[in-house]
Amino acid sequence: MKALVLGGGGREHALVRALSLDPGVTSIHSAPGNPGISELAENHVLNVTDGLAVTELAARIRAELVVIGPEAPLVSGVADALRDRGIPVFGPDQEAARLEGSKAFAKEVMEAAGVPTAKARVCRTASQVSEALDEFGTPYVVKNDGLAAGKGVVVTEDRALAERHARECGRVVIEEFLDGPEVSLFVLSDGLHALPLLPAQDFKRAYDGDQGPNTGGMGAYAPLPWAPAGLVDEVMESVVRPTLVEMNRRGKRYQGLLYVGLALTSRGPRVVEFNARFGDPETQVVLDRLATPIGAVLQATDTGGLGGIGSLQWKSGAAVTVVVAAENYPGDPVKGDVIGGLDQANALEGAYVLHAGTDWEGTNGVRSSGGRVLNVVGTGIDLRQARERAYEAVSRIELRGSFHRTDIAERAAAEL
Ligand code: AMP
Repeated sequence: MKALVLGGGGREHALVRALSLDPGVTSIHSAPGNPGISELAENHVLNVTDGLAVTELAARIRAELVVIGPEAPLVSGVADALRDRGIPVFGPDQEAARLEGSKAFAKEVMEAAGVPTAKARVCRTASQVSEALDEFGTPYVVKNDGLAAGKGVVVTEDRALAERHARECGRVVIEEFLDGPEVSLFVLSDGLHALPLLPAQDFKRAYDGDQGPNTGGMGAYAPLPWAPAGLVDEVMESVVRPTLVEMNRRGKRYQGLLYVGLALTSRGPRVVEFNARFGDPETQVVLDRLATPIGAVLQATDTGGLGGIGSLQWKSGAAVTVVVAAENYPGDPVKGDVIGGLDQANALEGAYVLHAGTDWEGTNGVRSSGGRVLNVVGTGIDLRQARERAYEAVSRIELRGSFHRTDIAERAAAEL
């Protein structure tokens, strides 16, 4: 199988790595890719939100699978363009991707499907906002009703801040606050059959102890030793199946990956959000644990036949990823600094480095080019060992001004 992966972050590096370990995958292309990905795939310069350009490249290299990493190409209809040309694609159509692209649409589908989620109101005017804030009380949860790459949500006790965010967004969804630990569950779907991946947890706040601003994610680990038994089955029954049925009823067959963001509240699991693509950085740990070759599984979400795969196989042990972020992330991150220690980090047993925001520096060097620069992955017999290896590898990385959280998977490892 020839595969093309769209995107150039840590998630895509993890996808390319997983594909490279699949004996059925003969060649891998990526667009735009990054320096880390280029060690495993041929990178192409391309506007990945341009359906025509992507289709042309896929046809030229005779791709038998196009894996769409980020949300932007999904929302701009790149999956539709590929399907129209009969090129197998991993990712939902533009209409189905509205489960992520519009929080209001997601709420409407969940309500129709009877999926447990936070009560919510869609608000456009200041008086609607004010009423909804009164109704749900503190902490206030105000969400931009559009794509904001995980950064359009404000959770705050501060009424003025909540109102300001609503004003700046225009159309928002205001909802009740959900208490309890968060879990990310990724589910592969061909529209009829669904296969869950391993649940994972990510760390959204910038600093240790869940302090500081929200980010795209500062680290993740899997599996979750503390997750209640039967959690995955329960979520498949109460969330995933009814959602797929409801999408089919609306004529929007959901193919690709459904990311179910959950809060495990005292009243049971509640959906915090749906995304239409792999989460970043949870993908980096979940795919590390996958033992089933990934190519045919991703392809089956498009061609049907996911039902014939049975269930996925997982390696024993655990994986932890720690994000090395640029100075000033998530504000206006400092870019263009040379990165050292990559080979030393990769040389460690049970550890490796995925590139997230990197670029070439001259012919051999690598420099930072984004907020989240590297994802350092540690693996081991359990979370404790995986964590130790991840942090040992992080300590070998040199990037001026960079920072990382020191408490990724700390509590889960301590409770083992
Ligand atoms: P979203 O973009 O909807 O995923 O929200 C981003 C983050 O905001 C989530 O991962 C949660 O940490 C937080 N969040 C969103 N909705 C709620 C809610 N109803 N209650 C508590 N926290 C929330």
